[in-house]
Amino acid sequence: MSDADPLEQLRVLQRVAEDVTSALDLDEILGRCATTSSALAETSSCAIYLRDDRRQLFRRHISRDSLNESIFLPTGQLDAWLGHQASVLCNLQDPALALHPGVLASRARGFTATLNLAMRWRGKLIGLLILAFRDRVVLPEATVRTLEAIIGYQAAAIENARAHQLIERRARLALTLRQFSERAIAIADADALHRIILETALGLSGADRGLLSRVDGAGTLVFAGIGCCERLVGQVVPLADRYVAESIARSEPLVIDDVAAMEPASPVAAAAQRHATEQLMILTMRHDETPIGQVMVGTAAARDWGDEEIEAMRTLASMAAELMERGRIQAARDLERRRLGESIEHLPIGVAVIDPTGRALHINGAARALAEALGITYENWRESMARLRKANGEPLKPEDSMLLRAFRGEHPPAHVIRFTPIGSDRSFTLRGAAAPLCDLDGHVTAAVIGFQDVTELQDLADAKERFLRIASHELRSPVTSLRATTQLLAIDPSALADRERRETLLQRLDRQSVRLVNLVGQLLDTTRLHAEELPLQLGDCDLVALCRNSVEAGDARVRVEAAGAVIGRWDAVRIEQVLTNLVANALHYSAAEAPVIVRVREQPGHAVVQVIDRGIGIAATELGRLFTPFYRAPGAAGQHRAGLGLGLHITREIVRRHGGSISVESQSGQGSTFTVELPLGGPASPAPS
Ligand code: ADP
Repeated sequence: MSDADPLEQLRVLQRVAEDVTSALDLDEILGRCATTSSALAETSSCAIYLRDDRRQLFRRHISRDSLNESIFLPTGQLDAWLGHQASVLCNLQDPALALHPGVLASRARGFTATLNLAMRWRGKLIGLLILAFRDRVVLPEATVRTLEAIIGYQAAAIENARAHQLIERRARLALTLRQFSERAIAIADADALHRIILETALGLSGADRGLLSRVDGAGTLVFAGIGCCERLVGQVVPLADRYVAESIARSEPLVIDDVAAMEPASPVAAAAQRHATEQLMILTMRHDETPIGQVMVGTAAARDWGDEEIEAMRTLASMAAELMERGRIQAARDLERRRLGESIEHLPIGVAVIDPTGRALHINGAARALAEALGITYENWRESMARLRKANGEPLKPEDSMLLRAFRGEHPPAHVIRFTPIGSDRSFTLRGAAAPLCDLDGHVTAAVIGFQDVTELQDLADAKERFLRIASHELRSPVTSLRATTQLLAIDPSALADRERRETLLQRLDRQSVRLVNLVGQLLDTTRLHAEELPLQLGDCDLVALCRNSVEAGDARVRVEAAGAVIGRWDAVRIEQVLTNLVANALHYSAAEAPVIVRVREQPGHAVVQVIDRGIGIAATELGRLFTPFYRAPGAAGQHRAGLGLGLHITREIVRRHGGSISVESQSGQGSTFTVELPLGGPASPAPS
């Protein structure tokens, strides 16, 4: 190196000063620093190290001409070696340095001396610039001083750039965290949330792989992964793993800068090493101080993780813990709600939850079925109410709406209401109750209505009431008649002496006692049928003959039409009872002279009997209930025609037990046709007893 020209050196210093004030990019500043210093020292071999307080080392940032193999220099050693000196010139040929491995390496590469320049900022050693020479061991004093001055400026520039970088880094990290919280808060899907947590973790740390695990028994189960960690999903790492345990034990994130040096017996270390990970950061997520899982990120190339990145990662981990816990609670609630919904769905009671705007929050199966049968919707319950009439034909009033009362905050007590949809012939009896659902402030947010379709129970109760009314009335008339006859005989026994009067009295006694026996017989049959105590005595019999038997005692108005015998395996007594009932009804509910036809025919596998009359007929609205015990159509009851309303019920039961069916076609005032179909072979399975 030529002796330094002071003017030239001043110019260099001025350029450096300009650089310092103009450049903000750290790499650029370091590059210029290397170039300027090398030019001044007339060597192309130089290296720059910068202090890393977190890792307590100086990390090499620049190496030109492959100077210095070592990437890190320990902080303590360097601090001690440089002391307060601005620079140290090392004569590599000095035998005292012979044992130092760095010196040996440099000497082997042909270097004879190095100038080590300390970069200081406010007295603290923040970096080191090494210039290496092959042909010299001494440098001109002036050059060394100039270099020291340059390095002084550079240290200021480096600190300035670092401060800038820090501000930028902090702003970037804060923005990433803010974006994360905005996105994550709106996400309901757990997988999507895990993905965003991992993406944010990579964004904050500059890592290229990461995973999420949750504490599960004695281990942590990896449930989400990104980058090469994706294939670790499903694996369990024992809580006893050295690194897992260390991260759980400390509140700070665990940073491992040298994965290669990790304990290979640890599954975490083994996996990281297998995937050529250079650095690793492990953070434990906690909820209420309890560890619930971990976030791990790793990099293939060393990253300069500063306090800011680590702090940002810690913030992310605590936000993630909060969100995941919230998600877990929400999932548990959803599951509970779903299970509750499922069990409510199949209840035999209708349940509907409606909000005041008419939105249906929940409607179970029974409630849907009823709405369908009624032709209404819960959502439009106000309009739906207008479609219903009470049993007495009046429209439903707002007070009748349990929902409306519940929306007002009332708890309407359970009550029974019977109504009929307009235009329908079916009436419904419901027993229901409603209750308001309130939020924490006591505002009604919805109403729940529960009801049971008790139409059948109501029909049974009606039937019982009808039975008592009809049975007492029907039994009283033959008994009254019998009693009148016996009283007459008691007063006037001579009546028996007169042949004609005796005949009349005996016929009357016989008619009334037969009627009484028939009524009691019907009651008995019904009781037996209900107790399943009516065994069938099956045997081959001719249906046509049974028809003729059943009309024998009847009227000449009845005509049996049949092509020939129809043989089947039936209970002759019971089938005759069926035919007698149908023929008796046909005669009973017809004008005195109207004809009745009994038509018998055989079809493949079946016998069909039709009993056709031209009597009073039955209104279409009544047809469905004819076979209900004690039911009597208003036409029959209104015309004071005697009857218990049991004959058709018994008839249908007998036919059903033979494996057959009965149907009716009728028109009011036109007549009726009852059709019975019986399988020729009798009931398919052994006749139910
Ligand atoms: P009962 O005749 O004793 O009243 P049933 O069970 O035999 O009882 O019949 C039930 C109801 O069916 C009768 O009350 C009547 O209203 C109606 N009904 C049955 N058969 C006929 C028919 N052939 N014509 C008109 N109405 C009938």
